[in-house]
Amino acid sequence: MPQRCLYCGKVIDSYTFRSFFLKEDELCPSCRKKMQVKRKLIGLGDFKVESFFEYDSIFKSLLLQFKECHDEALKSVFLYDLNDYLNVRYFGYQLLFVPSSERKRKERGFDHLEEIFSEVKLKRVKGLKMKKDLCQEGMDLDRRKRMTDNYIYEGKTLQKVLIVDDMMTTGSSLRGVYNCIKVHSKKIKVLSLAYKSITLHY
Ligand SMILES: [Zn+2]
Repeated sequence: MPQRCLYCGKVIDSYTFRSFFLKEDELCPSCRKKMQVKRKLIGLGDFKVESFFEYDSIFKSLLLQFKECHDEALKSVFLYDLNDYLNVRYFGYQLLFVPSSERKRKERGFDHLEEIFSEVKLKRVKGLKMKKDLCQEGMDLDRRKRMTDNYIYEGKTLQKVLIVDDMMTTGSSLRGVYNCIKVHSKKIKVLSLAYKSITLHY
């Protein structure tokens, strides 16, 4: 069976140097071009967020397809050429995924961030929870702001933590996790796979 691009569905019959010699890509070269890394550092008050993709139509539909339809093959699409970078840049850090709503996670039956980051060889932080099981989808700005006080950590003292989320809109979840973890860790870095071009800071 010829391999098809997971985004446009066309048979992949041309390759990039990387996809031919180093690592097979689930996207065709022209879709990969659309899904290119545009690294950005976004200030969010007292910390910066490193982000890789604009939340544009291709990123949005790939993430949605992965999260809601659990198209397993898609999990390597996001960090396709970033795994090595992350392993080196954040060597010695422990990954802390921003928790999804428990209800949503049960509905999905899997943790999408854990799967996307499965090739990132950093230890995972356990013990962070939401106080109230809130799902952010469809929340207005006021309710999103409440997320900043909605996390609780019941784990060991940490040295270096990398907080990770899939996508940043207002930054309220990242800020909430940061506020919660800062008394438990010496060093903290923050990462979001994607950012919306218009990001509201507060
Ligand atoms: Zn394609």
